[in-house]
Amino acid sequence: MIGLGVLNGMAVTLRNFVGSYFVKERMITVQYPEEREPLPENYRNFPFLLFDTDDAEAGLRCVACKICEKECPPQCIYIVKSEDKKPDYMGKPQFYPKIFDIDISVCMSCQICVEVCPFEAIKMDKVFELSRRERFDALLMRKDELAKSNIYYHKIHPIEAAEVDGNLAAAAEAKKKKA
Ligand code: SF4
Ligand code: SF4
Repeated sequence: MIGLGVLNGMAVTLRNFVGSYFVKERMITVQYPEEREPLPENYRNFPFLLFDTDDAEAGLRCVACKICEKECPPQCIYIVKSEDKKPDYMGKPQFYPKIFDIDISVCMSCQICVEVCPFEAIKMDKVFELSRRERFDALLMRKDELAKSNIYYHKIHPIEAAEVDGNLAAAAEAKKKKA
């Protein structure tokens, strides 16, 4: 029937309008930014780099393997590898990124960088208030801005972070047994 789609659409609008007066959980207005709803565990926007301990430089997990840089679909990651090495979480000497930039004006939050990283070194953040006046330099996130602690990771993604820690501990244990 012609116009049935329009009538169905209007019925949905009417149901929602009436519901907004009578369904308790839909009557709440969150006074943002003073009030905030907790974000779900799986919420994500842009990536950040993980570090262990309280030293963002020494504890940075990234070994500058550049896999994420190669796999990022819009090519918004830029890495320059160090010349020297530092120990990783298992004590093995590894390179680290001298430069690690992400252009968040280009990043499409696909999470591919997270999925391809073999070192659990890059994860998705939940910070969304990132608007800036400038288009270019202000939206280029550098290593020091990207580096966030494992404690922070546990705060924003508690379930995922516990699983990652468990996997890393199991890998370290297996390596110890082999040695
Ligand atoms: S989330 Fe996707 S687009 Fe953004 S840096 Fe990672 S791979 Fe690139
Ligand atoms: S974040 Fe992971 S994949 Fe990307 S360079 Fe560092 S270790 Fe390699």
